[in-house]
Amino acid sequence: MTTQTDGTTPPDMRRLCVHTMTVKRWSLAEAIEGFTAAGIPGITVWRQHLEPQGSDVSGRMLRDSGLRVASLCRGGFFPALTAADRAKAIGDNLRAIDEAAAIGAPLVVLVSGAVPGLPLDEARRQITDGIAAVVPHAEAAGVRLGIEPLHPMYAGDRCAINTLRQANDIAESLATPVVGVTVDVYHLWWDPDLESEIRRAGPRILSFHVCDWRCPTRDLLNDRGLMGEGCIPVRRIRRWVEETGYDGAIEVEIFSDELWAEDPRVLLDRIKTAYREFV
Ligand code: ZN
Repeated sequence: MTTQTDGTTPPDMRRLCVHTMTVKRWSLAEAIEGFTAAGIPGITVWRQHLEPQGSDVSGRMLRDSGLRVASLCRGGFFPALTAADRAKAIGDNLRAIDEAAAIGAPLVVLVSGAVPGLPLDEARRQITDGIAAVVPHAEAAGVRLGIEPLHPMYAGDRCAINTLRQANDIAESLATPVVGVTVDVYHLWWDPDLESEIRRAGPRILSFHVCDWRCPTRDLLNDRGLMGEGCIPVRRIRRWVEETGYDGAIEVEIFSDELWAEDPRVLLDRIKTAYREFV
């Protein structure tokens, strides 16, 4: 099977990647074993799955597995009410970059952050400054940084970057190839400017996340659907992304109390089917 770029046929299975958060209850070792058994070639590792054994041991496990590591999730959370807390956030991002390098992840995904009570324009300034502060370390480590806009429902306390336009503006202003954007259909599908901002991002698109928006959504954080279970035109958005030349991993990132309750092995089978049918 060759990589399809017309958006009307399923993507190559070799591009499939699953986030460890999608199979949250598994340890990293269990995820490696489960992905390998299911024939899922790519993995994006969340830091909580690194923590128990540390990034050096995790890196060895991942290298031995032969799985392709797409990214480390996540850095960011730059804005804070005090300078001390902003400095702490920068320290944490430097560590995330080191962890990514240790596990062979070419990318750290940034959830930029937001703080209740801090005006959004100030939060956005602090985010730009925070990313700029860690750029030299990322360049030295050979790790890129993907600014991931989050749906505006998270602007209050999780992420003040809510559109791809904002992420593109920051990436453009920093003007370094290590800073790009992450396109997640869950956060961006509603945006009337999405197609043009994807085109504008072009080679700055460093990663691509898929799932679906359930209607109605029963929980603002943990009710994402499998592709095909909701109202996101995933295949159409994939086509826009691929028209820029993006041919990297297609990452399945699902937070869902309902799907987390399933046997992760069954979930991985359902993901493969949904990937073929709806991505
Ligand atoms: Zn995402």
